This record gives sequence, C-alpha cells and structure tokens, in this order.
Amino acid sequence: MIVGIDLGATKTLVGLLTKKGKIIDQIIQPTPKKLKRGGFFIVEIIERLLKKNRIAKNKLIGIGIGAAGLVDQKKGDVILTNLPEWGKINLIKILRKIFPCPIFLENDAKLAALGEFWRGQGKGTKNMILLTIGTGIGGGIIIDKKLYTGQGYGGEIGHMIIDPDGPKCGCGSYGCFEALASGMAIKKRTNLEPKTIFVRARKGDSFANEIIREEIKALSLGIINIIHIFHPEKIILSGGLMDNGDFILPDLRKIVQNKILKRFCQSDRKVRIEKAKLANQAGLVGAVYLILGQSVSCRPKSRL
Ligand SMILES: [Zn+2]
Repeated sequence: MIVGIDLGATKTLVGLLTKKGKIIDQIIQPTPKKLKRGGFFIVEIIERLLKKNRIAKNKLIGIGIGAAGLVDQKKGDVILTNLPEWGKINLIKILRKIFPCPIFLENDAKLAALGEFWRGQGKGTKNMILLTIGTGIGGGIIIDKKLYTGQGYGGEIGHMIIDPDGPKCGCGSYGCFEALASGMAIKKRTNLEPKTIFVRARKGDSFANEIIREEIKALSLGIINIIHIFHPEKIILSGGLMDNGDFILPDLRKIVQNKILKRFCQSDRKVRIEKAKLANQAGLVGAVYLILGQSVSCRPKSRL
C-alpha cells in the first residue's frame, strides 16, 4: 500500500492506494488556515486511514505528497503560496518521525501531471502538459515520458508573463498567466465566484458571456505559448474551471487552432487539448508513480 497526499490551500486529500494506482480508501478534509502543532494534522489523517483499513505503518511502501506551492524536494520544505500564514514547513521531517517508509514530495500540479500521464488522459503520450486551472494555475510538464522540473522548480506555467501591463499576480509580478486566466482572476474582475458566472453565461447573460470570452482568450494565449515551446501531443486541462470544460473547450480549441503556426497543427502532429480524466484524484495516482520510481524526479536526490 502507498499513501498519497494532495495538500491544497482549501482541501487536504489523503488516499490509500495499491501499486497499480487504484484508490482503496480516502479521507478529505479542509486544510486548516492556521498551522497548529506543525503539520501534525496530516499525520493524524494518515493514521486514521491506516487504522480504518487495518494496515500497519511498517507495511507502507511509501508516502507521496503533492503540495500546492513551492516545493524543495531536496530539503523537504514547502511554501504553500495561497496559505501565507503557514510560512515554510518541512513536511518530510514531520512524517519521517512517525512513518519508516520512503517519503517523497512534489508540487501538486506536477504530481497530477504524473497521474494523468500514467493512468489518465495522458496515457500513451510521450510529451504532454497538464494545466490545473483553479484558484491559481499550476503546471506539470512531461517530456519523453518523464516529469521535467529543470533544477527543481521548473514548470511554473502559471507565472509565465502574458501581459506586463496586466493585473498584479500573487507572486508579485504583473500580468502572469494565473493573474489573467485563473478562477481568482475571474473573481477579482467580477466579485463573483466563477461557478456563478458559468451558470449565468449558460442562461444567456451577456455580461457573464463576455467574462467567459475574456477567460477563453486569456487561456488561449498561455496555451499557444506552451504549444510553440513544447509542441506536445496533448495539453490536458484540470482544476475547478474544467467542471465547465464543455462550455469552454470548443471555443478555446478554435482560437488556439487559428492562432498557432500552421506547421504546429499539421494533421499528423496535431496538439489535442483535452479535459483531464482523473479529476481531483490525479495527484494521489501520481504519488504512487513517484514512489515506484518511474519518474526522473524521484531519483535518490529527492529521497530523504
Ligand atoms: Zn505570478
């Protein structure tokens, strides 16, 4: 058994999985806004899950954590970008005191990319990019069937600058992809939850439809840049905004198709833009893949 953890700014999902990536059981609960007793709440969830399924700690093959923020795989440090009150936390140190198995850490979107590549929409591809479009925008790049992170932090697609005169981003810069095309960007422009905007747009509300048009345009700009740099087989989209993927994808595909260089959409080398398959479980499945050592990012350097 392997434990996969998806530590998000709003929710923490802890799952128990087989070596094949099948989820046996899972617990989901809100992520505490303030960090009490270090990150011990994660230990408690894992222990609860193991007890419920009658599995001893020493029977675990490994624990894989995907965290929504900047992750230092070598040191084990995590900074949750959208939970500033947490500060820097070393999750590996906390878990190692309790669990004897190998523990790996990665950014959540990167882990989700591994999950989709292994068991989801990216199955069978050699090169794919996953974008998680939720509160922010996360990215995971698979090149030649391996997760690409450069020196460790690479793949922060959400902070690619699209418009230097654009709105301020959480990272301090202006006009990042995330500041223009994320759920938070919609909320900031309209003071409404993206879900509400979609409901209104589907009913024909012209203001809501204008907001969606802007959203699709912003998304297309980022995606066109990604295609020109990587020319992957697939761009896979996940995250909260993709609950309304059916409403976005047809127009998004059209705009991208019209704007990319023609040689990038030759019939035998088309880039498919698709909705993710594993939804919020991609990170857990990716954790198994990471633990099993099939990814470049779990070379010994990230094993602590
Ligand atoms: Zn940014």
